[in-house]
Amino acid sequence: MNSVEDWAFILKNRVLRNGKAVINYHVYSSLWSSIKQEVTTVLDNSCWKVGSGCSIDLWTDSWCGNALAETLNIPPNVIIWLPLKVSDIIQNLQWHIPPYLANLFPILPNLVQQVVLPIEPLPDVLVWSGNDNGLLSLKDAYNFKRNHFPVLSWAKVIWCNDVPPSRSLLAWRIMLDKLPTDDKLMDRGCCLPSMCSLCKIHSETLFHLFFECDFSFGLWRWLATSLNLVLQFQSMEDIWSLCDRARNSFNQCFVCHLGNHTKALSSGTITDFSMLKAFMVTVHPPKPMSLKEIIWQPPPPQWIKCNTYGASNPVASACGGIFRNSNADFLCGFASKIDMASALCAELCGFMTAIEIAEARGWRNLWIESDSMLVVNAYKYSNLVSWSLTNRWFNCLKLVGSVNPSIGLFIVREVLA
Ligand SMILES: [Zn+2]
Repeated sequence: MNSVEDWAFILKNRVLRNGKAVINYHVYSSLWSSIKQEVTTVLDNSCWKVGSGCSIDLWTDSWCGNALAETLNIPPNVIIWLPLKVSDIIQNLQWHIPPYLANLFPILPNLVQQVVLPIEPLPDVLVWSGNDNGLLSLKDAYNFKRNHFPVLSWAKVIWCNDVPPSRSLLAWRIMLDKLPTDDKLMDRGCCLPSMCSLCKIHSETLFHLFFECDFSFGLWRWLATSLNLVLQFQSMEDIWSLCDRARNSFNQCFVCHLGNHTKALSSGTITDFSMLKAFMVTVHPPKPMSLKEIIWQPPPPQWIKCNTYGASNPVASACGGIFRNSNADFLCGFASKIDMASALCAELCGFMTAIEIAEARGWRNLWIESDSMLVVNAYKYSNLVSWSLTNRWFNCLKLVGSVNPSIGLFIVREVLA
């Protein structure tokens, strides 16, 4: 929506008026009509990155989470009496919420303060909220619109380089119940007497053939004894839950099954070693871990060193840092929780917090060490930074920039032992 490329310019002007309103007449074209239908979807999944605030409707546009009218439950007949644009609550590049608005909506200041304003005038930008760079590419649009099927946990185990394709195909057909066993053929109308070719007693079904038949059961029992496991199968999926419970033994079993055709490494435990030896498989031991001792070094006199760190998992993210001077004295530390961030965002937040604290405390020579190479790269190439952090990021770079910097910055990658 904010692209300056010719194709984006043509598309926008064909279906939008004044950059926002969708044309209200029918276009006699399958292509343009389809694009027109999707404009609402694009706008619903975009949000504004605040610059001057002149282009953003204060209550109806998304710029600090959902639209404020929706969050604060403000009816349209009340909105017309309130300030219209976001620029109406910005003064001298700072948030300035009129007292009557703060009284009317007590949580408004908290919501607004979460948005970082740029410290120099910038235009407002409408960004696609589904990715980090804020640009809606054809690939993003395709991924957004296509059907998302559930990811099968066992698919990666079957389809991997170490398994011959013929075995992968067989396992895949078993899991999807697509093998042409007698019961399947009868379902399709073939009239035939069915008999299991292994035990010659029961009729042939997929589950009987692989799990219930005395012959198959004997094989499973032998495997269970070899792996020291208790095996019980009620359905096909049970085999993969068993893999999860005894992942190591089963992976080794997998390696055993593939024999010497695989180059997969063993885990290095004595259990795996003895199992592989029992199956007469050549052991590929893992590379030994090399340990390197790294000792923290104090910064030069007059400099403050900050070691920052960020971490993220699917549930929570956080960043932290410790400031020390040239005598290695602890000056201060910080740790903060971040909502829904990637590992890079967490590392960048640690970096930015360090600069903001140095600015607040008047420390002029700051040496930052981060264990993330991406942070060091983001300092050189700002396009690596997610659009949601760019205002804060550019504010920090302004403090340490080449023109009138208030902080001298030296950033290095810390090598962890
Ligand atoms: Zn049988």
